[in-house]
Amino acid sequence: MKKLSLIVSVYNEEASLTHFYDVTTEVLKTTENAWKTELIFVNDGSKDGSGEILAGLAGRDSRVKVVNFSRNFGHEAAMTAGIDYATGDFLICLDADLQNPPELIPQILAEYEAGSDVVLMAREENKSAGFLKKITSNLFYKILNKMSEVEFERNVSDFFGISKRAADLVRENYREKTRYLRGFIQQIGFKHSVIKYKAPARFAGESKYSIGKLAGIAFHTFDCFSVTPLKAGIVAAALSILLTLASFTYYIVLWVRDGGGSGTALLCTLLTFLFSLLFLLLGVIGEYLGNIMREVRNRPVYIVDKTLNLEEKDK
Ligand code: UDP
Ligand code: MG
Repeated sequence: MKKLSLIVSVYNEEASLTHFYDVTTEVLKTTENAWKTELIFVNDGSKDGSGEILAGLAGRDSRVKVVNFSRNFGHEAAMTAGIDYATGDFLICLDADLQNPPELIPQILAEYEAGSDVVLMAREENKSAGFLKKITSNLFYKILNKMSEVEFERNVSDFFGISKRAADLVRENYREKTRYLRGFIQQIGFKHSVIKYKAPARFAGESKYSIGKLAGIAFHTFDCFSVTPLKAGIVAAALSILLTLASFTYYIVLWVRDGGGSGTALLCTLLTFLFSLLFLLLGVIGEYLGNIMREVRNRPVYIVDKTLNLEEKDK
């Protein structure tokens, strides 16, 4: 029998946990013929009664496993720990507040069984979402997909399923500190599928994400997947060189016409020339920085899906 690992991040969810457990175990009754399940709750330094509730659940159900953090490390860290501890053939990450409907678990498993290594869950666009939100979201994905080597799916969430081999890759090769799991699982490749879902309102409690935190996440997405901004120096240098040429031409034209150079044009030429050098240097530093980032991240050079007539072999 195959094994499913459910990974649940928990931060001050005392009001949702028991209900989450009840709903989820009810859903698992429909899959238990084919799947043995472990429920890994990662308690991310909750300050409320979540820890006690989880200990209670673990006491009466051996499928429940609990990882208690020493303090709050954040949702990404909690999911990462869950993936580290998971032993399943397929893993699903979901939130404890029931905004990621456990009812969809059978559908996610069906996608895996149909051959997907990565099952992404995309929130359906909120029809009532404001015009501004739509525009910014469109722009975000347009720019991101231009700047990075991966084509990211829109509106995917921290609700996803990954096969064991995808989880192994994330576990072993994506250990960087600036984390963006939903991006990593799209970067590793393999066949993926997208299921659209409607996120219900939080079952209880409050969202732990402020607008500031969300903006931080949006920025991380860029610095995690693109070194293009570091090339700004080169672009500025190119523009500056054009300006140098223009002002130098202007200086020559004046010199020929009037039989003498203009001091202002000469100063302008000198200034833009010096700026070109400065920007060029910044661009060069940016290139080296980009290289250092790639080396430090140490992501795999390539990932093999299948080989034919060859022994499976690690790179
Ligand atoms: N969470 C966590 N650590 C944190 C913040 C949140 O483990 O520092 C958990 C939280 O308990 C929930 C999930 O991550 O299960 C998503 O958080 P939340 O519902 O606050 O985010 P939102 O749904 O509003 O984006
Ligand atoms: Mg939520």
